[in-house]
Amino acid sequence: MSKIVLFWHRRDLRLHDNAGLAVALQSGLPVVPLFIYDREILDQLPSRRDARVTFIYDEVERLGRQTEQAGGTFLAFYGRPLEVFAQLVQHYEVAGVYTNEDYEPYAAVRDAAIAELIKPAGTEFRVFKDQVIFAKNEILSKSGTPPRVFGAYSKTWLAALRDEHLVPYPSTEHFVESNLMPLAEAAPRPTLEQMGFERYEQFVPAAELPAAALVSNYHNTRDKPGLVNSSTRRSVHLRFGTLSVRELMQQAKELNPKLLNELIWRDFFMMILWHYPFTATESYDPRLRLVPYRNNEDEFRAWCEGRTGYPLVDAGMRELNQTGYMPNRARIAAAGFLVKHLLIDWRWGDRYFADKLLDYDMSQNVGNWQWMAGTGAVAAPWFRVYSPQSQQEQYDTTFDYVRQWIPEFGTRDYPTPIVEHKFARERAIATFRAAYQAAG
Ligand SMILES: Cc1cc2nc3c(=O)[nH]c(=O)nc-3n(C[C@H](O)[C@H](O)[C@H](O)COP(=O)(O)OP(=O)(O)OC[C@H]3O[C@@H](n4cnc5c(N)ncnc54)[C@H](O)[C@@H]3O)c2cc1C
Repeated sequence: MSKIVLFWHRRDLRLHDNAGLAVALQSGLPVVPLFIYDREILDQLPSRRDARVTFIYDEVERLGRQTEQAGGTFLAFYGRPLEVFAQLVQHYEVAGVYTNEDYEPYAAVRDAAIAELIKPAGTEFRVFKDQVIFAKNEILSKSGTPPRVFGAYSKTWLAALRDEHLVPYPSTEHFVESNLMPLAEAAPRPTLEQMGFERYEQFVPAAELPAAALVSNYHNTRDKPGLVNSSTRRSVHLRFGTLSVRELMQQAKELNPKLLNELIWRDFFMMILWHYPFTATESYDPRLRLVPYRNNEDEFRAWCEGRTGYPLVDAGMRELNQTGYMPNRARIAAAGFLVKHLLIDWRWGDRYFADKLLDYDMSQNVGNWQWMAGTGAVAAPWFRVYSPQSQQEQYDTTFDYVRQWIPEFGTRDYPTPIVEHKFARERAIATFRAAYQAAG
């Protein structure tokens, strides 16, 4: 059998505008695309009924059908990546494993181990930048260090942007029979049931660019969670790569600088996690690692269930629990309330969001949680405590959002506030200040 190149899809479940796939298809060797349902990740999920696994499964099957229609074979495995590649390089003559970069701490360690594992078989491991515009060390401050403040980062990012950064990669054009390898004896792809999962579908908008009218008006609507189509709802597609970030960036660049700015935040948090993997579980700011959080479990449960008596927080949490999505403004209110008003460790909230969000992405979640807690690589000081009531009045003036998710709002059945705002604000500031000063 002739030599092949394996293309490993991870956070890039699409054929079009796929950086690594485009290079693999132009390598001169036939390509076999594959996906691994990684047990290191799946075995840790709290439920076997997970909308993200269902979403991934459907997208992998779609890629499988597209590959077969083009004359190739798409492999899928349920296992541990190291074991899967150990077998693949034994079974086939694999010249290279090509894949797109993944900046999470687990992925960095896993990829390094796979590169070492396959080297003795003469197989090279090649990675390509695909899910961000600028990665790793591409945006640095004048002193050569990663900017710790978003303002400086985005200024440098915008100055560095050239048209070519947003040009799509020609992966679809090269996805043709002559560049693919059909494998006669390939094992069938595992089904959801065989992997022990139940189907669980949640609403996800189509993996296409949002309407131009929505994007043009985005800056006026994005902070109004009660409006239909207030924001793009494309986060889940950026997370799994069913939409190319270059396409969305191009549209944002043409139509709306505010949307472009939000997408730069996404690059920023990916860069931060890559540089500082410890921030996945530790405060970026060392002076805020020993905040004496109260961590009251009853209050945490009330927050999780949307029973705090603060309607924007509760509506957001109920939407999250029912749909796997929460608008950004509600995420801000809910996160700020948990850390500051209830004095519960941001990592508890980060974990809860990780279990529930369809668009959960470690870099974005940790970055935003630390931003709200005031502990992160951001200029959001720890003494900022938003009033959830004022936020409600400002962003859901008509109470449309609140009524949509809290049917008993305005009746006796809706709880009274779990804590009084002024008291909680002063307590939070005193607690954070003491921790900050104690750390010197
Ligand atoms: C506490 C907290 C946790 C969050 N956790 C996640 C997460 O796990 N995954 C995730 O993708 N986003 C997360 N966000 C960021 C943001 O809330 C979502 O990206 C956004 O709500 C998704 O909806 P959308 O696609 O309609 O966003 P839009 O407003 O339409 O924005 C378009 C895209 O820009 C990016 N973006 C927008 N806001 C932010 C932001 N604050 N930070 C970084 N990127 C942003 C996203 O990729 C988003 O899809 C979190 C925000 C907070 C405050």
